[in-house]
Amino acid sequence: MAMLIDFHAHPGYEHDLEGLRRAFRRALAVAGYHGVDRICLNSLADWTPSPSPAAVTRGNDMVLALRDEYPERVVGFCYVNPRRERHALREIERCVVRHGMGGVKLWVACRASDPRVDPVAHRAAELGVPILQHAWRERPDRRSGESKPADVAALAARHPRAMIVMAHLTAAGAQGLKEIAPYPNLHVDIAGGEPEAGMVELAVRLLGAERVVFGTDTPIRSYGATLGKVEEARMTQRERALILGGNAARLLVRGLGR
Ligand SMILES: [Zn+2]
Repeated sequence: MAMLIDFHAHPGYEHDLEGLRRAFRRALAVAGYHGVDRICLNSLADWTPSPSPAAVTRGNDMVLALRDEYPERVVGFCYVNPRRERHALREIERCVVRHGMGGVKLWVACRASDPRVDPVAHRAAELGVPILQHAWRERPDRRSGESKPADVAALAARHPRAMIVMAHLTAAGAQGLKEIAPYPNLHVDIAGGEPEAGMVELAVRLLGAERVVFGTDTPIRSYGATLGKVEEARMTQRERALILGGNAARLLVRGLGR
């Protein structure tokens, strides 16, 4: 069987390294039971929308500590806040270039269409590491910095060399998939949301299986529910292998090396 890679996971809700270690050890055991080979871990710092540089650094340090504890299982993603450009670029140098993290994570600090994301996207493209960008379709409690699929499409259009994975297929819906479809450097992950019949098939039809990536959003969603989305979807074995790990392995050229 091809490699099984969880492209979208968080270490846990705990705010201290010991708590995260315990939570992550349990998550790893469950992932192992389901045959997951690699977990891409990203911190959301202190879970505030626009975290301080100190909180971002601390979160990335915890991911590095977990990665160093399980180097065969974990690929670190460097979380940055594009509103703090100098710090964001310094964190990418520190975490990706010096410490071998495999990607960059962007959440809700500012929208993907905001020009402040450009330096981060530019550097990630130069380094050849993918960007995992949170997105959600229109919702009433939207935070000002939360991207919609159209925002991520705008980022992909401005940075055709950047490899971008938009999070949350179910939250994008058919409309969101149509908005990102024209940009071949833009992928979607299936993380978060409960399984909905036909969603993964729809993504494959609109984007091609090469642009659909398995991710769970652990600990927010379970491995069982998320793997079920792919196992139950009608597709070829080749398409299934691409979604479960083939595409992630291609995107993680830099991150799987160590
Ligand atoms: Zn997430």
